[in-house]
Amino acid sequence: MRCKCRFCGSVARITSSNEISLEVTHLYCQCTNPKCNAVTVRDNSYSHCLRPPIDDIDTLFLDRFNSMGKEQQQQLLRQMTGNNTPLN
Ligand SMILES: [Zn+2]
Repeated sequence: MRCKCRFCGSVARITSSNEISLEVTHLYCQCTNPKCNAVTVRDNSYSHCLRPPIDDIDTLFLDRFNSMGKEQQQQLLRQMTGNNTPLN
């Protein structure tokens, strides 16, 4: 990963990183322009999740399924499996 030097606009190379927390990592960037050669620190931070981990999806589904009434559960299972056999 590369970034742009904020002083001269040249490409800056990330030379190391320091994880501050699960949310923030400091990236140490060195400008590749020999006439500038600036070293800066950038924050790389977590923004948001587009899709939760698979285990979380399973948990969310099971929680939602368990909160349904028995008739809703049967209807959902019939839709998912094409099976018309009622649950016991
Ligand atoms: Zn520079």
